[in-house]
Amino acid sequence: MSVQHNYNNFCKPKLNKLLSALKLDKNYIKAEGNYLYTDDGKKVVDFVGGFGVSILGHNHPELIKEMTTTLQSNVAINSQCSVRSESANLAMVLNEYIDNGHNYKVNFSNSGAESVEAAIKHAYKVHFDKVRREYERITRILNDFYYKVEREGIEIELPGEENDLIDFRNDLDEYNLNQFESFQKSPVIAGLKGSYHGKTCSPLKVTFNKSYREGFEGLSSIQAAFVDHDKPQRLKEIVNELACEFYYPVLVGSKVEIHTLKITRVMAFIMEVLQGEGGIKPVPEKTLEQLAAIHGELKIPFILDEIQTGCGRLGSIYSYQDTALKSIAPEYITLSKALGGGLVKIGATLIRDDIYDQDFGILHTSTFAEDDLSSKVAIKALELLKANDSELLKRVNVQGEKLLNGFKELQQRYPEIIKNVRGKGLMIGVELTPLLTRSPFFRATGKQGVLSMLVASYLLEYHNIRLLAPLTTMLKGNPGKNRMSILRVQPPATITDEEIEALLSSFVEVLDIIQSNNEYL
Ligand code: PMP
Repeated sequence: MSVQHNYNNFCKPKLNKLLSALKLDKNYIKAEGNYLYTDDGKKVVDFVGGFGVSILGHNHPELIKEMTTTLQSNVAINSQCSVRSESANLAMVLNEYIDNGHNYKVNFSNSGAESVEAAIKHAYKVHFDKVRREYERITRILNDFYYKVEREGIEIELPGEENDLIDFRNDLDEYNLNQFESFQKSPVIAGLKGSYHGKTCSPLKVTFNKSYREGFEGLSSIQAAFVDHDKPQRLKEIVNELACEFYYPVLVGSKVEIHTLKITRVMAFIMEVLQGEGGIKPVPEKTLEQLAAIHGELKIPFILDEIQTGCGRLGSIYSYQDTALKSIAPEYITLSKALGGGLVKIGATLIRDDIYDQDFGILHTSTFAEDDLSSKVAIKALELLKANDSELLKRVNVQGEKLLNGFKELQQRYPEIIKNVRGKGLMIGVELTPLLTRSPFFRATGKQGVLSMLVASYLLEYHNIRLLAPLTTMLKGNPGKNRMSILRVQPPATITDEEIEALLSSFVEVLDIIQSNNEYL
């Protein structure tokens, strides 16, 4: 049986068929540096880089050495619930690269989605506790008011039509409880349009132990509120609009006034500085400036998702530090992908010390999180990025510029086919136009958004170059709606000038074929 047959039968049939139709159903059996090797002997230059993982290239020898020597020393991988020395070392290293005067507690996990999950869960807990405290305080104010009036027989004038003190108290009590429940039922997380933060749902809902579940029930009904890239001020409005309002009585003379305490239901704002899965879209610097400017007054935590942009992909460990967001001390930073050097699966959620909930380290755990092996490999990966005065990180920007400029030149030469070229560091997107003026074949592929996959197929088949587009382009979309067709170029930092040249010149070949409507080639 072929591996393709087995993959089809036992893993992902639909994906397998689509890959097969595009001749992308390769079986890579070896990977080294910038290359992947197929089982039929092809050496392929990898410009996908594990969707952002392999900034150090595949199987970096220093990382292999670190991993094998660690394993040969019979490292204690399964010593859960003990003092994890290498996790502590990695957490310390991750803190060293942050210079905003804060320390961060680091919660380790196994993947990007899990590290986002930890940030959201923590933010929810902190916000929920705050809303609950305020609700309880307001309830106390209401009760104290009621008993004082009752006990002392104070003559009061209730607001509006109200004339019965008990009804008045019960109405306010019920109203406040509803408001409190409205937060529990629909907490909000704000984000930017086009964002991507992972795909897991919540197994916590079906976890029976109440201590783990308690207080987190509302997490499964989170609502998202998205903000346009060019309207960061909208975030302020959303925070203000989506709020719980608690009412409490204040006695002014003999008159009872109703005062309001407003607490937003928006528990956090999450963003990437350059959106990867959303189509390689850098958030405009002006937007980042505005977001930095309102961060303090919003009083909601920012979760900076650096899962794809961090650990070298944009030329630094934390890419937000090269933007206007540097002026803030983000409450949360999430990392994964390149953190494990492409060898180990690891995610990290950095939580600013001053907001850290002490129970979180007990409430939120995972069997494989915090093992010494992955921590050691991650420390080594960070060390390699920083070695020789950050030689590799600097190279990311140098090679990235060459790629970006090369594709921008192609865009000028083929404006009808290349719609946009954008990105930063080694995270570059080449967006193709829907090709409305081309032959029926190219028109159809352009309209369905699979043109980028077709280009990827050609480059692999004829030039042994691996590029990919987001997989969603291969799903059925809304009929009639043009879908974004984008190629993601995310090679390792070690990508050479010759390999960049080879990519650009083979791209020209594809563009010429499309330009001449030569779909038979
Ligand atoms: N956040 C961002 C910004 C990502 O790019 C990704 C993965 N593409 C994730 C979260 C989720 O990571 P994972 O696939 O490891 O769950």
